[in-house]
Amino acid sequence: MKVALLPGDGIGPEITPAAVRALAELAPDIELVEAPFGAAGIRGFGTPLPDETLRACKEADAVLKGPIGDPEFDAADVRPEQGVFVLRSELGVYANLRPARDAGTDLLIVRELLGGIYYGARGVRDDGTVYDTCEYRPDQVERVVRRSFELARRRSCKLTSIDKANVLETSRMWRRVVREVAVDYPDVELQDMLIDNAAMQLARAANQFDVLVADNMFGDILSDLAAAVTGGLGLAPSASLGDGPGGLFEPVHGSAPDIAGRGCANPSAMLRSTAMMLDLAFDRHDEARALEDAVDRTIAGTPTPDIGGSASTTEFADAVLAALAR
Ligand code: NAD
Repeated sequence: MKVALLPGDGIGPEITPAAVRALAELAPDIELVEAPFGAAGIRGFGTPLPDETLRACKEADAVLKGPIGDPEFDAADVRPEQGVFVLRSELGVYANLRPARDAGTDLLIVRELLGGIYYGARGVRDDGTVYDTCEYRPDQVERVVRRSFELARRRSCKLTSIDKANVLETSRMWRRVVREVAVDYPDVELQDMLIDNAAMQLARAANQFDVLVADNMFGDILSDLAAAVTGGLGLAPSASLGDGPGGLFEPVHGSAPDIAGRGCANPSAMLRSTAMMLDLAFDRHDEARALEDAVDRTIAGTPTPDIGGSASTTEFADAVLAALAR
């Protein structure tokens, strides 16, 4: 079994060792193949996703990725973020699962990952107008919606579909496809909700939701909001899945350049992404649960500064390993 390990940029290389230590403890048979990605790829190879890195990802049984991004390249033609979009496309991972939970809330946002405004035509017209277009094919919507119904069925049989059908053509098609797929899932209670209302409801009472499905941009924004109301970005993991085995597992947060190099980043999201990988890519459910429990206990007992404590990244990782050993 092989995992391509992409530590990434900023706090990425600081939080990755926690995941490496947890995997050595829980799944020592899994071989980790480390590869440069993001700004690290640009610096070493002139591209955020070097060929060798892409090959390692495709040959692996799963990909565990730290965050990428570096202010040094914000205005450059070649930027770290471009590599993420290519990697997701190359791996065909269209369903991005973003769980968010705390004492009162336990929800799952399923974000469409390979279409919409992040992939549509963009440019600058002669008169200086700049445009990005949101485009979806019905089959792109259908596969992620079907996946969401399946996931809802394994939870509390409640699905909320997010759109902006009162304004956008793509959203009207999205809603139509959702209705068509719903016929196959009569046991799942479905509601449509406009994105603006959904943001308000999430901020006000996140515990009313179970599974939510949204397009690429709406899902991106809503999942940051869900992370914020359930403890913060440092806690939020994600799994990106296609139709094949494996997948891409990464924290929701970015490279946090404002705290990079200080040794205080919270590795919880990276560790929870590792747990999702053990669970979903390797069917190692007991190990995944053990890691989740160890992280939960460490969040409560040895918190990092972003969640009100003073533990360093290494102290947090030490506490997780100690909890795993118990
Ligand atoms: P960010 O998620 O990096 O940071 C937002 C805030 O959350 C910052 O104050 C940061 O300190 C804090 N934070 C994030 N993760 C944390 C953690 N683990 N522990 C403690 N605090 C944490 O978002 P940003 O500042 O908007 O973006 C920074 C860079 O990351 C940009 O270049 C962006 O493009 C990139 N980015 C990459 C990904 C990815 O790799 N998938 C995702 C989002 C942003």
